[in-house]
Amino acid sequence: KNKDLKEKLYKINLEAARYFYNNLKSSKIALNYLYSRGIDNKIINRFGLGYSLNEWDALIKHLKNMGYSEEEMSLAGLLVKSEKGIYDRFRNRIMFPIFDVKGRVIAFGGRVLDDSKPKYLNTSETLVFEKGKNLYGLNYVIKNKNLENIIVVEGYMDCIKLHQFGLNNVVASLGTALTTDHSKLLKRYTNNIYICYDSDAAGQAATLRGIEILESAGLNVKVIIVPSGKDPDEFVKNNGIDEFKKLIKDALFITDYRILKAKEGKNIKNQFDKVKYVNEVVDVISKLKDEVLVQHYSEKLSEETGISLNVIIDKVNKNRTNIT
Ligand code: ATP
Ligand code: MN
Ligand code: MN
Ligand code: MN
Repeated sequence: KNKDLKEKLYKINLEAARYFYNNLKSSKIALNYLYSRGIDNKIINRFGLGYSLNEWDALIKHLKNMGYSEEEMSLAGLLVKSEKGIYDRFRNRIMFPIFDVKGRVIAFGGRVLDDSKPKYLNTSETLVFEKGKNLYGLNYVIKNKNLENIIVVEGYMDCIKLHQFGLNNVVASLGTALTTDHSKLLKRYTNNIYICYDSDAAGQAATLRGIEILESAGLNVKVIIVPSGKDPDEFVKNNGIDEFKKLIKDALFITDYRILKAKEGKNIKNQFDKVKYVNEVVDVISKLKDEVLVQHYSEKLSEETGISLNVIIDKVNKNRTNIT
């Protein structure tokens, strides 16, 4: 019974995706919005992008004609009920179908064409769409023959823009924090993850949380830093894909990233800042399992701050006995 209903929801979502896609092809405004953001037709087709009309019930009417019930539309999260009646959840938005790894349409994200709010609207949880369990773009990424690593970005646009420029190993976590389910999912396909979130405050906080989760799952993680508050899409638009590839090359090991974060806003020449910095970095080093790495980062810290290596190693060792 449940299985039948799921099948029905995949079908209705696919039909909705087709409808949105056809709308896009005949909407100059929506197409021009995507072109203005540097998205080309090839990638529109590949990712099945679409457009939801600026009407209250265009999709509902269409799906009724195709033989679907309001109940089914509601279960798929495509329809909203209010006192005044029912209406389309997605209206006047660029539509991004979200696929599962088997290529079935399980949900949608919709973006406004201007600055109105909310900027993005996603399908709420349904029988076939659980938040935190899917990664946008993963269905394309896993088609790669020799997948060496996966890059995780925040947004739809970041993901498709990088694919457009030939990076076929990019997925998006869609603004939600990375979950242990995400890391398990990723681990099925690779052990090597690059995290490349927006460089605003929210993105940096999400990076620190994300690397913890990925690391606990036993994944090798590196951090790609996008300079000056930008996201990958904006960066590529302004600087080109080759500059982005340099950022990938320069990606930091997570320990280096954590040390970099510890240093931010501190002036090592000021002794209070220096003490804080040393203690924070010692905490980071204490969590390392590999003695060679402990030695390496302790020496670096000693050289940088002028605190003797013995003192640092001592602190690290005390910390480690406290932890275990
Ligand atoms: P764009 O480049 O189209 O302006 P963005 O992807 O850079 O958008 P961010 O604000 O950086 O937008 O958000 C990253 C991602 O988080 C979005 O792509 C979207 O998946 C998700 N997101 C953002 N705002 C919302 C929201 N209000 N509701 C649901 N999801 C959201
Ligand atoms: Mn962001
Ligand atoms: Mn963006
Ligand atoms: Mn962004």
